[in-house]
Amino acid sequence: MTSPADYDDNNIFAKILRGEIPSHRVYEDERTIAFMDVMPQAPGHVLVLPKAPSRNLLDADPATLTHAISVVQKIANAVKDVFDADGVFIAQFNESAAGQTVFHLHFHVIPRHEGVALKPHSGKMEDGAVLAANAEKIRAVLA
Ligand code: AMP
Repeated sequence: MTSPADYDDNNIFAKILRGEIPSHRVYEDERTIAFMDVMPQAPGHVLVLPKAPSRNLLDADPATLTHAISVVQKIANAVKDVFDADGVFIAQFNESAAGQTVFHLHFHVIPRHEGVALKPHSGKMEDGAVLAANAEKIRAVLA
């Protein structure tokens, strides 16, 4: 079973949380942050992370999950509006076998449009200016 002892604080999201690596932040509160995925599967792909360290959902504190999902809802509504999406895909992977590549709990929030295929998971790096512009639009509707 996954336990908090399995958390490695050298993962890239821990570095973003400590401010050691930049991100295109769209939301922050005392328990959660959200920023643009650098390899978006669709324009407006956001990651929502609890600040509390956990490897994934399996070892997270249930109270942390409760708050995080309310932030996921807030971000999902924001990206649906900003990107005029038909729907919003929420994804969350637990361990490598399930597709997890970064081992700090996070939720993917991805706007979807009818008939438009998702790009591959961890595929192509997006241009920084595009990520910055999309982050700005999301921050504006959250304000
Ligand atoms: P997962 O496979 O669920 O662990 O997803 C990790 C996600 O993090 C992938 O969608 C990557 O594109 C994304 N990612 C990796 N490094 C960064 C980074 N420095 N900033 C933002 N997103 C990242």
